Amino acid sequence: MKKLGLFALLFSLMLFLAACGGDDDASGGSDDGGEVEAKDASIGIAMPTKSSARWVDDGDNMVKQLEELGYETDLQYAEDDVDKQIEQIENMIVKGANVLVVASIDGTALTNVLAKAAEQDIEVIAYDRLIMGTPDVSYYATFDNFQVGVLQASYIEEALNLKEEDGPFNIEVFGGSPDDNNAYFFWDGAMSVLQPHIDSGKVVVQSEQTDFEQAATMRWDGNLAKSRMENILSKAYSGGETVDAVLSPYDGISRGVIQALKGVGYGSGDLPMPVISGQDAELASIKSIIAGEQTQTVFKDTRDLAAVVVNMIEAILTGEEAEVNDTETYDNDVEVIPSYLVEPVSVDINNYQEIVIDSGYYDESELE
Ligand code: BGC
Repeated sequence: MKKLGLFALLFSLMLFLAACGGDDDASGGSDDGGEVEAKDASIGIAMPTKSSARWVDDGDNMVKQLEELGYETDLQYAEDDVDKQIEQIENMIVKGANVLVVASIDGTALTNVLAKAAEQDIEVIAYDRLIMGTPDVSYYATFDNFQVGVLQASYIEEALNLKEEDGPFNIEVFGGSPDDNNAYFFWDGAMSVLQPHIDSGKVVVQSEQTDFEQAATMRWDGNLAKSRMENILSKAYSGGETVDAVLSPYDGISRGVIQALKGVGYGSGDLPMPVISGQDAELASIKSIIAGEQTQTVFKDTRDLAAVVVNMIEAILTGEEAEVNDTETYDNDVEVIPSYLVEPVSVDINNYQEIVIDSGYYDESELE
């Protein structure tokens, strides 16, 4: 009996060793043999800040869609602190993330940390903001950023009827953060519409601040925009001129500008609010549109963007090519990154119900 027991033990040991040998050959395969549905992959998601509602939606949508598919997720926000974001990405690498999804704060600051990811064969997807100056980005998922600027400026063009009216109209222009590649696309898109009117004299920028560098808003900071607008109002509009429109690239900036305008009486008495553009359809700005303060915003459906990124992740993990729809536009100074651009949609008082409420993006009750 004892002999038989020992034999059985040796036999199982042989089977065990054979199984281990087999595993060695299966490179990179799953080794836990666990539940069928749970994917053996963890996705690190680095987001810029929770201070803007859009990034909170982005993070939530990514986690929701990935977890439904059985992935593990590690979602981190860096509160617009570049070093903190680098540290978070380093941690994701150490913890063994299989793919990294990064919405950068400073798009030029991640070259070294992404080189570390590449050493571990971890592929990176640039999320909404292009990561510059590195060969270590596999894909870029974003919206048509030039078109965002076109939508903002053509809204102003139509609202003031610039094609028909003689003017002149006073417009002030704001740009986004100079360390965010998107800011240049928004600006170029908007200027493709406004510049001809500025050149013809139909549009006057009383502050004379018409270069991107003068109009830029570091880290998209609404308070900075507010003080720049206050300055402009006191210096360039002290002789009774009135502002007819403000090109703003982002809802947080629009709300800062609105505070400055309200501070000198716009939106009351016989001083109507100028036409003010925006971006992201943030809840606070939808409310502002309903209240008759902000005029327009650009809705970017973060649910669609998350779905695009999930496809990219699955393609990377299965060694396939992800679907892209642009292989020309986004050069990160090292190479052109294959991109998927989702269409942005202009929103104002007339269509907000359809675009952001009926589509289920926000619940009607959130507007109260
Ligand atoms: C995004 C915009 C956003 C801005 C400020 C940009 O990179 O594309 O949607 O408004 O950052 O957060």
